[in-house]
Formats: sequence, C-alpha cells, structure tokens
Amino acid sequence: DNPVRLSVQIHPYAGNRRMLLTRDITALEQAETMRRDFVANVSHEIRTPLTVLMGFVETLQNLPLDAEERARYLRLMSQQAQRMQTLVNDLLTLSRLEGNAPPPGNQWTSARALLAHCEEEARGLSRQLHAQGHRLTFSQEADSELSGAPVELQSAMSNLVTNAVRYTPAQGEVSVIWRILADGRGEFSVRDSGPGIAAEHIPRLTERFYRVDRSRSRETGGTGLGLAIVKHIAQRHGGELRVESTLGKGSRFALILPKSRVRALPVVGLRA
Ligand code: ADP
Repeated sequence: DNPVRLSVQIHPYAGNRRMLLTRDITALEQAETMRRDFVANVSHEIRTPLTVLMGFVETLQNLPLDAEERARYLRLMSQQAQRMQTLVNDLLTLSRLEGNAPPPGNQWTSARALLAHCEEEARGLSRQLHAQGHRLTFSQEADSELSGAPVELQSAMSNLVTNAVRYTPAQGEVSVIWRILADGRGEFSVRDSGPGIAAEHIPRLTERFYRVDRSRSRETGGTGLGLAIVKHIAQRHGGELRVESTLGKGSRFALILPKSRVRALPVVGLRA
C-alpha cells in the first residue's frame, strides 16, 4: 500500500530523439507529507488551549463575577497558558535535537544524583495526580557515573519516570532501576503496573504527537513529544530506547547507554 512515486521528464536529445528521465521521488514526497502533518498537528495542539483561554477571557469580560469566581477563572487560564508553554518548550527541545545541536559531550554525572532528581519529581507528580499516590521504588545496583549532556540525560530519565506515573492508576507500582549490564552498558529502566501498550502501537510511540491514550495524555499534561525527545537523546549518546509491554499488565521502558559512557565508582568502606 506504499506505491513508488516516479517523476518522469522528457528531454530533447541528439537530433529528433528524446531522452526519458525518471526519478524516484517516494522519499521526497513522504518527507513533505510528514512536514505537512507536523505543521497541522502543532497548529491543532496550540489551537485547543488557545480556544479555551479565549473563552475564559470572554467570560471575564462579559460576566459580573465575584472575587472568588474571578480567581478560579484566572487559575484555569493560567493552566491553559502553562500547557502552551510546555508544548512550545518541548517543540524547541525537539527541533534543537533534530537539527544541528552540538554533540552531547562527555561531562560525568553521578547516577545517584540523576536518580534522586527523578524520585523527587515522581513523588510530587504522584501526589498531585492521585491522593492515594503510587508505590514508587528507586534503586541502583552500583554507584556509578554516566557521561554526556547532564541536562539531556536527566530530561530523558524524567520523561520515562513521569510517563510511568501519569499512565499508571492510583496505588499502582513504578519501579526504577539503574544498573550496569554484564557487557558494560548502562541501563536505566522504568517498570510500571499500568495499562500496558498493545504491540501494534509500540513501534510508533516515538513518533511526534503519537498517543495511544489521547485523553489520559491531555489530562495529565502530555504533549505527545516526550518519547520522541527521549529517543533522540538516547541516539545522540550512542544508546537506544527499548520498550516492552503487555496489555493489561504494564510496561517497561529502558534507556541503554554505551559502555564508553558508563563507569562504576570504586566501592568505599568495604569491610573484609
Ligand atoms: P505524552 O505526552 O502523550 O505522554 P509521550 O511521547 O511521552 O507523549 O508518549 C506517547 C504515548 O505513549 C502516550 O500518549 C501514551 O499513550 C503512551 N505511553 C507512554 N508511556 C506509557 C506508559 N508508561 N504506560 C502506558 N502508555 C504509555
């Protein structure tokens, strides 16, 4: 169902002969379709909160509201503005990563610090989404350091952890582990007891704006760009993003980093 598209041109050639020039423009047309879809998606994603925001502005202008009601409307307006801000920030991050961002570099950061930041964020988000929260565990098998762009590594890890919290129902389990694999590569894995993802969606999760559960994504402040960003960060660092999931059971997302970007710290205070 993906026909090859050819461009055919006829040129005059030596006397009254003609030359037929064919070019395969399949890839070119696909790129153009993707660009158009992307622009349409971005416009739609911006228009939705903007329409809601305009509605509130009109209400504030036209209805006689008391101070409490005004405050409530202003809070709702601020939420919509924040949603647009998150979207624009994610778009800028993605465009930088897809464009000519300089290579991530080799700054060493402690896995412990990255993990601690993820934990703080996850606990805050879990409380914000559900009064009962989740069962969250964070662990590392060995003290180690990873190299690259610390902000990008943190952002990739946070994305996976906050997704697990956002899609897992209250009191569900989210377990985050950093470890060094037998072959020396590093693995940051996030396992959740959430809804799981059907196999046919998995290859598409890292597409920009691809969402399996549209309403859950919106309700919890998703932009549909998170996993696209994670994939780019993983690839820029010479690593990869792995997804395993069973519908109804849960998912496991793993960010794998190459051996060259991981080093174990010497164990201190080891007793004989
Ligand atoms: P979003 O901002 O919508 O979460 P992402 O790119 O981070 O965008 O994720 C894409 C989609 O993948 C989500 O909309 C959601 O449907 C699905 N998804 C991501 N993480 C999980 C998870 N841990 N459990 C179930 N579904 C997930």
